[in-house]
Amino acid sequence: MNTESKSKGGLAGLIKLARPHKGKMIFSGLFSILAQGFGIVPFILVYFIVTEIAGKPVGEIDRQFIWRLVFAGIGAVVLKYVFVGLSLLLSHLSAYNILYDIRVSISEKLATLPLGYFNERTTGQIKKVMLEDVEQMEIFIGHNMPDFIGAFVHIVVTTIVLFIFDWRLALATICMLPMGILAYAIAFRKNKDLRKKFYTANENMNAAMIQYIQGMPIIKAFNHTVESFKKYAKSVQDCAYYEDRICETWFLPMTIFHVAITANLLVLLPVGAMMYLAGSITLSTFVLFLLMGFGFGSPLYQLIIFGGLMEKNLEGQARISAILSAEPLPEPTVGKTVDGSGVFALDVEFAYKDIKVLKGIDFEVPAKHFMAFVGPSGAGKTTLARLIPRFWDVGAGSLSLGNTDIRDMKIDDLMDEMTFVFQNIFLFNDSIYENLRMGKPDATQAEIEDAARAAQCHDFIMGLPDGYQSVIGEKGAKISGGEKQRLSIARALLKNAPILVLDEATAFIDPENEALIQEAINELARDKTLIVIAHRLSIITSADQILVVEEGKVVERGTHNELLETGSLYKQMWDAHKATLGWKL
Ligand code: ADP
Repeated sequence: MNTESKSKGGLAGLIKLARPHKGKMIFSGLFSILAQGFGIVPFILVYFIVTEIAGKPVGEIDRQFIWRLVFAGIGAVVLKYVFVGLSLLLSHLSAYNILYDIRVSISEKLATLPLGYFNERTTGQIKKVMLEDVEQMEIFIGHNMPDFIGAFVHIVVTTIVLFIFDWRLALATICMLPMGILAYAIAFRKNKDLRKKFYTANENMNAAMIQYIQGMPIIKAFNHTVESFKKYAKSVQDCAYYEDRICETWFLPMTIFHVAITANLLVLLPVGAMMYLAGSITLSTFVLFLLMGFGFGSPLYQLIIFGGLMEKNLEGQARISAILSAEPLPEPTVGKTVDGSGVFALDVEFAYKDIKVLKGIDFEVPAKHFMAFVGPSGAGKTTLARLIPRFWDVGAGSLSLGNTDIRDMKIDDLMDEMTFVFQNIFLFNDSIYENLRMGKPDATQAEIEDAARAAQCHDFIMGLPDGYQSVIGEKGAKISGGEKQRLSIARALLKNAPILVLDEATAFIDPENEALIQEAINELARDKTLIVIAHRLSIITSADQILVVEEGKVVERGTHNELLETGSLYKQMWDAHKATLGWKL
């Protein structure tokens, strides 16, 4: 998506999100305008006070008139702050309501997106949108918008008032502004690309930082600390580089801008003095201009800050919109029911963007059969397994449960039919009991223990000080990767779906875990349709059918014994596997 259309999407998205709260926002704006109006009243009152007292002995001054003006001034100041408060109250209420709407919409949306969506994005990217971009909107709507309206109205009203009182002095007050605005506008246009690059670098730095922290155990284990730190440091350097460039390009124009909007006394004072001495303006007019003209341009800062924030906010808003407008999985209005729990693939093709990774895959796993995918790394096994729970949809061909194409089923129905255990196991920072119960919220303790026994984890759970109530996580029970894997199998078992897809984790290759996993799989295979991606061939020797996948195609198929007799790649893999067993011995 190009940046322009991104920004348009952002603006349209912003307006759409703000629409339900427009009443509050309009009133916030109106109160901000009123606050500015009342803020100018005391200056005009000063004009009348000076007119009354200028050149008169104290005794001749109309005291009642002066006190009336003084109280009117105090009243105006009080009203100004009342309206500032009301404006901020309403802008914050709308901001928090909009934030609430966005957060709910994003959460709801994320739940409808294909699982592949999360595969293609880093946690850092999604986190940034959900936390920073959404938070930024609160500041923008709650603070920046009322500030902007206030600053804009202040400048317009002050200009009008000054021109009403004396157009010549008004011109002297504002004559330096165009130079400042021009310098700013040119620089703003000129470093547009630089700013975009900075935003991207900032986003990359965020993602790199999260990866660096999350990957710390692996980084340390493989002694890649320096290398991984270099990657993170590079992302920080990139970000700093663009920040430096932006500072450099801003230096001169911002100086001109600053002088032009704050130093108008350089013109106003001599011109005013000359006109007063020449008798062409009164003292009260001179005083009014000195009071109102001094710092007349300062609110312009708010306007330019708003310009920069608007751009940043639209970038963030575009990222929010991109999530909200991401295509959910297409789902039929009326889902077909499933007849049988066999899994069938017919001429399945799939490509990541333009790279074809599955090329005409066929297979049949009859109900309650055990099928294994094996093959070299990168062959397409994981992709194939992930197509079954619809991480993505097939590019061509079809995947069916029984006679029903999975795309004709309601997603919830599809999910009810299957459980999947993939390598990146996620366990909540909660008790083992609660983690297992995720598989079946109304499970009894006995059911939970049965599942844990079947997945070969009951014994290690009982060995923990708090048994099933042991909390997993940083401060809780330390469990090994293999144990985690078996817990996730137990959780899947509890769900008791007829089909189970298991991507056997490569990370935990210890003989004890291997034997336990094999037992768990044998247990599962008894009454489930089981599809296992195997990295260790010994755990799938009992499979009803083994599919050997290479470069996105099925190159061999059969049982373990058949493949040993007729297969070539499988036999090579088996020999290599046996050799590694030999090494272990
Ligand atoms: P296997 O499980 O057999 O190791 P995969 O299904 O993981 O193979 O990968 C098959 C091919 O698809 C590989 O070339 C891999 O680099 C590529 N691939 C996997 N996931 C993605 C992804 N999310 N985006 C782009 N390419 C991918």
